[in-house]
Amino acid sequence: MTRPIPDIDDPDFAPFWEGTAQSELRLVHCADCDKPRWPPRPICGWCRSLDFEWRAISPEGRLYTWTVAEHQTTPDIPAPYVVGIVEVHADPVVRMLGQVVCDPEHLRIGMQLTAQFDRVSDEAILVNWTSATPVPGDNLPSAPYAEALDGLG
Ligand SMILES: [Zn+2]
Repeated sequence: MTRPIPDIDDPDFAPFWEGTAQSELRLVHCADCDKPRWPPRPICGWCRSLDFEWRAISPEGRLYTWTVAEHQTTPDIPAPYVVGIVEVHADPVVRMLGQVVCDPEHLRIGMQLTAQFDRVSDEAILVNWTSATPVPGDNLPSAPYAEALDGLG
């Protein structure tokens, strides 16, 4: 078994992969209400419009949650590794799944992350995430996460 590679020719996702090839994070935006959405479905969940366009967004987000994969399932992806769900800064309603390249000991809900564009084949460049700041204590979350973390002691 080799590393799973996304189908970059899938017409619904092709503009996304064209963006990652240029180190851009692109999302579908509704042409009527302007809301971004992920994955790139043909209809807007907010206003039901079928008109949309692809736009580059800031390649930054915050860690919503994560898990550590402890069992290796393919030789090309050594375990352990972190899989996270990231709220993008363009609209926190949009959450993307990706590997978080970070020591699990340093992970904090709400920590600032930056997209990292990792080539995994001749054609495919994945979006993974890395800490936006090198010092773990410097990236504690702001509201609404800070209030929740205060209660954890
Ligand atoms: Zn809309």
